[in-house]
Amino acid sequence: MSVDHLSERYEKTLTRIAAAASQYGRPAGSVTLLAVSKTQPAQTIRDLAALGQRHFGENYLQEALEKRPLLADLPLTWHFIGQMQANKTRPVAEQFAWVHTVDRERIAVRLNEQRSPHLPPLNVCIQVRLADEPGKGGIEPDGVAALASRVRELPRLRLRGLMALPPPRDSFDEQKVLFDRLTTVLQQLNAQGFGLDTLSMGMSGDLEAAVAAGSTLVRVGTALFGERIKNWQQPTSPA
Ligand SMILES: *Cc1c(COP(=O)(O)O)cnc(C)c1O
Repeated sequence: MSVDHLSERYEKTLTRIAAAASQYGRPAGSVTLLAVSKTQPAQTIRDLAALGQRHFGENYLQEALEKRPLLADLPLTWHFIGQMQANKTRPVAEQFAWVHTVDRERIAVRLNEQRSPHLPPLNVCIQVRLADEPGKGGIEPDGVAALASRVRELPRLRLRGLMALPPPRDSFDEQKVLFDRLTTVLQQLNAQGFGLDTLSMGMSGDLEAAVAAGSTLVRVGTALFGERIKNWQQPTSPA
């Protein structure tokens, strides 16, 4: 994509987020844009970084590990947002600042063991399942408090909040109902003293509803980069 085209899409996306924040009474700057750069070449990430974007999210570990060295000179914050496999936690622990998809204790324990003491603690969101989503990760809402208590005890992890990837819904109201559930779970945890500050929810198609429901971080791919033409070929785990 040309830099002009990317710049236009970037400005549009930032404007969408700011307009939603203002419309739903959220403080300016309270919603962070995470650019979901899966399947995008390193040069496109570099171009977007030059326009001012700092937070990038990747889903496919192998792809991310190939791109990261090409971008090591840039001051970017990397988020892992793909499904976690217990045998692939080490590169996530070593190379990312955030992981949004912790949904079981075993993954958290491994990330904690593998996070270098020379790095700041790994920022963690617990992925919560908000609806029937066969094949997708996420813990049921009623299991979140127990997992959160466990994650909080792990010194190399810093529990920041919750993430959800609900199935697409056609209307704003249907989208918001699901996001409101995640907000409620976060509020319940904070009432127990967890002090969480992050709700990772909302994508290209539903970011307005997510912002209305209290999202602090929207994960946007298509609206920034266009439709993904090909999927990254990952040999062992489907997206
Ligand atoms: C791909 C992806 C996104 C971005 O989705 P778009 O609809 O392209 O904005 C956000 N979150 C996760 C977990 C994803 O896998």
